[in-house]
Parts: sequence; structure tokens; C-alpha cells
Amino acid sequence: MVHVTVTLKETFLLLSILWACITSSLALASAPSLSTAGSRNDIGKTETRLHSSPGFGDIDSQSTKKKTAVVVGGGPGGLAAALVLSNIQAQGTKAHGDVGDENGSFFDRVIVLDEAQKESYDPTRAYFFNINRRGQKFTDAFGIDLSKRGTAVQEFARQNVPSDPNEVFDAQSPFRRPMSEEEKENMGTMYWIPRHELVELITDEINAKNRKNANDIRAEIQFLRGSRCEYIEPTENGLVKIVIADDQSTEVNEKHNYLVADFVVGADGISSNVRRSLEDGRFDPQQWSNAKRPSKRFGLKQYTSPSTGLRIKGLRVSPDFAIPKGGTGSDRTEDIPIDFRYNYGLSSALNGPTNRLPLVILPQKDPYSISARPVNICTEPNHDIWDPNKIRTDDGGKSAKAYFEKAHPRYDWNKVVTEEEWEIFASTKGSRFPPCQYSPSMYVSSKKAEAGVVLVGDALHTFPPDLGQGVNAAFCDAMLLGKSFEEAASSAISTDGEISSFVPEALKSYEATNGPESRALIALARCGAPFQYDQSSILNRFRKTFWAANLALRLLLNKVTFGLSPKPAVLLMMDPTISFRRVMKKANTLTAMLWSSVLMIVLSLVKSRFSL
Ligand SMILES: Cc1cc2nc3c(=O)[nH]c(=O)nc-3n(C[C@H](O)[C@H](O)[C@H](O)COP(=O)(O)OP(=O)(O)OC[C@H]3O[C@@H](n4cnc5c(N)ncnc54)[C@H](O)[C@@H]3O)c2cc1C
Repeated sequence: MVHVTVTLKETFLLLSILWACITSSLALASAPSLSTAGSRNDIGKTETRLHSSPGFGDIDSQSTKKKTAVVVGGGPGGLAAALVLSNIQAQGTKAHGDVGDENGSFFDRVIVLDEAQKESYDPTRAYFFNINRRGQKFTDAFGIDLSKRGTAVQEFARQNVPSDPNEVFDAQSPFRRPMSEEEKENMGTMYWIPRHELVELITDEINAKNRKNANDIRAEIQFLRGSRCEYIEPTENGLVKIVIADDQSTEVNEKHNYLVADFVVGADGISSNVRRSLEDGRFDPQQWSNAKRPSKRFGLKQYTSPSTGLRIKGLRVSPDFAIPKGGTGSDRTEDIPIDFRYNYGLSSALNGPTNRLPLVILPQKDPYSISARPVNICTEPNHDIWDPNKIRTDDGGKSAKAYFEKAHPRYDWNKVVTEEEWEIFASTKGSRFPPCQYSPSMYVSSKKAEAGVVLVGDALHTFPPDLGQGVNAAFCDAMLLGKSFEEAASSAISTDGEISSFVPEALKSYEATNGPESRALIALARCGAPFQYDQSSILNRFRKTFWAANLALRLLLNKVTFGLSPKPAVLLMMDPTISFRRVMKKANTLTAMLWSSVLMIVLSLVKSRFSL
């Protein structure tokens, strides 16, 4: 009897732990698929016609002895890097007279180059960023006031709107996830802000700094917009040439402008040409540190997450969009205005795996600034919405509107979306959530000059937006780059004579700290919260159940051990004082302990069985 009781207990424990382990491995181990980006075949070709860069005159550092940094990519990561670089002081090396100018800034000028003529709202992407405490380390350091354009939120609150127009929408009781004091403290105030408004806000800050820069020690930041960097390559004297195609219709090598810089930051996003140039082996390891085995160092390590490949696009509804109260009373058509502090989840009346169409409206401070309130559609690729036989691309948006009328009968779609917008919506492809990928290495530095190339932001690591960490991580990269420069500069104070190790030291230290962070971030992106998009295929619903059970188990263990067992990684991550590396270390340690327990239990069961 006793024996039976013990066995049952053991079996229960075994099953529970097995459950946890299976879910851990399911969440953590979608088979990694390593891949590298394709190589270019134009290495070593020289330009036949070289054109000076309009508006920049002689910016060739070789002739001026002044230091130029070029940031390729003027997205959030590039702008943050530009501000950080413009602020780097050269106190430590100034005594030698070779580094930094008389004003004391290490760089004489910082040029931000972007292929887009102007940063503007992109309705096909319609993404909003959530800037959390990690990202705010950058905005705070540079006096960027997110409250000017962003919506402040201090809690997880969501308004769930029923699809059935006969059901009343109760705006007074949004769903709130209770937060502990610790969580509140960690999370602080977060800001939702559309991408283009964030870019505008940082650009305003840069322009303001430039205006008062006359006697300032900071380097001026200049913009070169509408210029696409085709590739970068080293110059003979150890600097970096940025080759620009200023006529997008012209083939590479037929017409080139170029810039020469001492320092290049690759902030050109997911398809970074700067990273690709490093991977291509354009930088000779004899002349450049960290340039050996380039395809191994700079070839992307690529993995999938359960949200990789989901398709997304935005529909622009009227800025006056409001929720009809619904119900059967006389006030059923009364409109309840959107409260910009909340997320809104609009439930779908269609509920099949390929036609369920829940919509999300994110907090938006001023929908009139873009004359629209973007509604995000995010589904698996086999959803009807991407099927041209169901949502035709050539009927002026008629079938798209009819689909929305079926999926969301609560709203008067004639009133809230223009005919023109239906047409745009039907004909645009939207975008896909990327894989989780990172470049194992992130810099090369010149052996001949104080020069180098470094990667930040999505050029360095990209992942689906589940964790809302993309921009925040890009800001952290920029801050870390600044810190690495500062530390290298201050250690240069005590070094008498040699200055050649300044940039290499800074970049080496940047990689030493940021490498493990990037890897941990990618691991976290794969298991953190990849099932939040209502993935409705049978396989994904099954995986989602295991993922949720895993999360629940970790939460339970955390509670019953009074915090000895760590919280799930996705919650730990909210504490901005904990590095991603530590978050994953804690999560992996718990996974290993659970597996060890399973092993021990299995062994003891086997032992007791054979000793019978
Ligand atoms: C749907 C969606 C939602 C997201 N939500 C969030 C969120 O809530 N929070 C969050 O933190 N992150 C979010 N992200 C991630 C975020 O968009 C990225 O991590 C972030 O934009 C990275 O910034 P970046 O400056 O490194 O790169 P990007 O924003 O991609 O900017 C790259 C810039 O480089 C320019 N460029 C590219 N190639 C060249 C070239 N060859 N020459 C010159 N210029 C070039 C581009 O024009 C662009 O301006 C989301 C992403 C998506 C797709």
C-alpha cells in the first residue's frame, strides 16, 4: 500500500516535471536553422567614375586630418548612435594632438546617411514602438522627451470589444493584469510612439543641438538623405569608403558617389549592406583587426521563432474612430470614443483557423497627426486575408471591405475607412515578422589608423516584435558603444605615447559586452512571448498550450519558493537593471534543474522497479 502511494506520488511528480520540461524544450527549441546571407561578387572592383558628394565638399578625412563618422541608416538605432558619437570626448587622447579636434570632441562631424528621402508614416507597416526603461536610458541621457509625441502607459490594460453588435461594450471595466509593486517599479512609465514620430523627435533633438553647437564641444550631425549605401570597403591608408548609389535606377559600379570616413556605424537595419560588406571579406585581415574568417564572423546566425513569418499590415481607419456601444437599447448606436491609454482588442465574428480576424489598436496620442488610427492585422500566412482569390487586389478594395463587414459587424466600415484606403489596403503586401538573427561579430578596426566599422540595432540583431525590445535594444547598443569609447578614452589618459589602441580598444570592449547580450536577446526572443498573435493553426494552438503551461509552472515555482526559483524570462526581462544575459542564465538554470529532477526521478523509478 505504502509502495503504491509512493509510486503514485512519484508518477505525479514525474508527470508534472515532464510536462514542464517538454514545454520548456518546446518553447526553447524550435530547430535552429543556420544560414548566411548571400555573398556579393563585386569585391575589389574599382569605380570607373567617381563623383563628389553633393553638399559635402571635401569630406575626405585623409586630407583634413579631422575625424569623420558616418552612420549608415537614419532609423532609431542610427540616430541614437549619431548622438552618442557626437558626444564622445577625446580628453584622454587630446594631449597627443592627433586625436580629436581643438574643441575636444573625438569626431569632427557625424554624417547620417539614409536611403529614404524623408522619414514618414508607412501605412504598410503601421508599427508602433513601446519604449521601455531600457530604451529610456538613451532618451533620458539625451534629454529626449518621449511624452511630447508618445502615449504614457503605466499598466497592462486592454479594452476587449465584443464582435456581436447586440452585445454591449462596457468601457468602464477594461481587462487589467494586476502588477506587483516590484513590477510597477521596474516598468515605470512606458511610451507608445509611432516609428516616424520617434524618428522625428530624435531628429528635432539633433537639430536643436546643432543650432546651439557654435561653441559647443559636441560634433555637428549632418544628414545625407536619399542616399543608399551600396557597400563599404577599406581605403589604402586604413580608412573606410562608403560607396553610395545616388541614382537608385543606376546599376552598381556604373555611377558612384562615395564618402571616406574614419568610423562607420552600420545601422542600416535587417538587410544591412554594411554587415554584408564585412561578411564579403572586403577588409584584409593583415590590415584590419577582427577581419579573419569573415563569413563566420559576420554571416548571420539565423533561427526561427513561433512568430517568425507571421504577416502584418495596417488598415488606416478614421482618426475619429469610436466603438459603437451596441446592445439592444435605444443607445446602441452611441459612440464611445477611444481612450488613448489602452490597447483595444476588437474580437472577430469569424472564428475559423483561416478566417478569424481579431484587430488590435495600440495607444496613440494624436491620430490626427497622420489623419488615421492604424489598425494592425497580424495573422498566419495561410489566412484568407492574404489570399488573392478572397481579398482581390484588383477590385478597388470591395472584397476587402466585404470581408471586414463579415468579421466585424459592429462597425460601419463605410463611415470609418475611405474607399481609397480600402484600395490601398487590398493592394499592399504588408510585411513579415523576421527570423531571430544576429551577427556573431560586430566590428573591424584598422591597424593603420584610428578607424573602424561597427554594427548596431537591427543590422546586428533582428527578431519578431513580440517582446517590444527591438528599438530598446538598438538604443542600448548605441549607449554601450558610447560607454566603450568613454572607457577607452579614459584609459588612454594614463597611457603615455601610443594612441593607436583607442578605437580598437573601444570596439573590442563593445563586442565583449554586447556579444553575449545579443545572443541572449535572440534566445529570449524565441521563447519569451511568441504566441501572442492569435496563431490559429492546430499545431500552433497545441504549442501555445504547452508554452502557457510552462509559463504557469515557472510562475508557480517562483511563488512557492518565495522567489528562490526565478520568474519566467519574459517577466524577468522587465527589470531594466538585469541584463538579457542574466535573464537567460536564470531561465536556463531552472530548465537544467527541471531536467535533472526528471532524470533523477526516472532513475529512482527504474531502480525501485528493478529492486522489486
Ligand atoms: C511590426 C513591427 C513592430 C515592432 N514593434 C516594436 C516595438 O514595439 N518596440 C520595439 O522596441 N521594437 C519594435 N519593432 C522592431 C523595430 O522596428 C526595430 O528593431 C528597429 O526599427 C530597429 O532600428 P534600427 O534603426 O536598427 O533599424 P531600422 O529601423 O530598420 O532603420 C534602418 C534605416 O536604415 C535605412 N537603410 C537601410 N538600408 C540602407 C542603405 N543601404 N543605405 C542607406 N540607408 C539604409 C532605412 O531607410 C532605415 O531608415 C517592431 C518591428 C516590426 C516589424
